[in-house]
Amino acid sequence: MKLYPTIGLEIHAELLTKSKVFCTCSAEFGGEPNSRCCPVCSGLPGTLPVLNKKAVEYIVKAGCVLNCDISRFTKWDRKNYFYPDLPKAYQISQMPRPVCLGGYVDIVSEGEPKRIRINRIHLEEDAGKLVHEDSTRQTLADYNRCGIPLIEIVTEPDFHSAADVTAFVEKIRLLLQYAGVCDGKMEQGSLRCDVNISLAEKDAKELGTRAEIKNINSVRAIGRAIEYEIYRQTELIESGERVVQETRRYTDSTGETVAMRSKEDAQDYRYFPDPDIPPIVFTEEELEQIQNDIPEMPESRRERYINQYGIAPNETESILNNKAVCFFFEEAVKYYNNPKSIASFILVELMRRINTGEADMEKLPFRPKDLARLVEIMDSDKINKSFGKNILCTMLETGKAPDAVCDEENLWIKEDLGQAEQVIDRILADNPAVVEQYRNGEAKVFGFLMGQANRQLKGVAAPGVVKGILERKLKEK
Ligand SMILES: [Zn+2]
Repeated sequence: MKLYPTIGLEIHAELLTKSKVFCTCSAEFGGEPNSRCCPVCSGLPGTLPVLNKKAVEYIVKAGCVLNCDISRFTKWDRKNYFYPDLPKAYQISQMPRPVCLGGYVDIVSEGEPKRIRINRIHLEEDAGKLVHEDSTRQTLADYNRCGIPLIEIVTEPDFHSAADVTAFVEKIRLLLQYAGVCDGKMEQGSLRCDVNISLAEKDAKELGTRAEIKNINSVRAIGRAIEYEIYRQTELIESGERVVQETRRYTDSTGETVAMRSKEDAQDYRYFPDPDIPPIVFTEEELEQIQNDIPEMPESRRERYINQYGIAPNETESILNNKAVCFFFEEAVKYYNNPKSIASFILVELMRRINTGEADMEKLPFRPKDLARLVEIMDSDKINKSFGKNILCTMLETGKAPDAVCDEENLWIKEDLGQAEQVIDRILADNPAVVEQYRNGEAKVFGFLMGQANRQLKGVAAPGVVKGILERKLKEK
């Protein structure tokens, strides 16, 4: 019996609004516990929530980049449950009329193109956070996260492997980042993933009993949790036992999932329309305006990079897979129109320093304009190209512009042709045997002479100029 996994996802993404979804408290990550809350988001009776327009705009953008239909009429519901991280004992969410319906995302999983369908995306408020103090055996509640706008993306059960899911999560994360609606920082919980997974025989009419793994917060952990769950359920089924419908938690240190609680059904929440938040009716103009405000997506950038800029496909992917790198690159190209050269310098020299932790892409001490200028002077004969990486290191340390670094470290090539001629004459005079070999047709010794000349003329003349003089002198006499 070959068992076949079927997986569906619920992805929660915190929106990048400045304030929370129903009050004006800051929606920024972190902060002293309970310093970013007010009577509205801490759920005191008698308060009146007011919907944040930006949050609505952001979910519409998310829906557009995930190919959803945007509902012209949308409304809010109360989802009732008690939990200590939810002080008002209900969450404002959307049940029958979410902002986005339908939709899809195309992925490539293990070399195969696949289309994953999206069922719906709705807007809701995030809950607070419970902090368990092991030492005192106490649990503390931090309500700073209460009321941060959250979108829940619900997919159809279109995944059949861990690879499908990780490819999809990476893609969703990137699209939301490009759209500017979520920072995708899984380690900070701004993108979290619940995985529903069941196993059945490949052509079985019904799906098997599913387990839900809650709140997994890295792409790698999602992959591992699914692999483990496939293994666990396979063992159960093959030994004749039953898979129980339940919510499980994944622990990264063991790579295993453990049971948390048996799964409630949706009806338990007693959804009903929220009387405080009026429904929204979008006009076509409003939707069009929001749509026009969405930045260019990776797909169309890819097209331009490869066909117009002539950047290699693998380099193109490396740029596109990191929004900060991509935006920095495009800004730099505005100042020096040589995308290929800029791309290769960013990917080789700058990324090396980012990957080793010497620099942080989001906190670079210089502007794209400065990097463009560095690549430009490297491409010209104004400095010796090999100084480029040292100049970059100084820029990273000091934030200085490349011209200033070259001035201070005296790196400009002086173009002193008189001195270049003299030095080359001396090299030829010092190496009569090599010169003789060259004139007898052994062209390969040219490299040796060129190496000598470049070493002695560093900072005096550009390599191209040195080469010209050397060739001329070898032909003379
Ligand atoms: Zn508040």
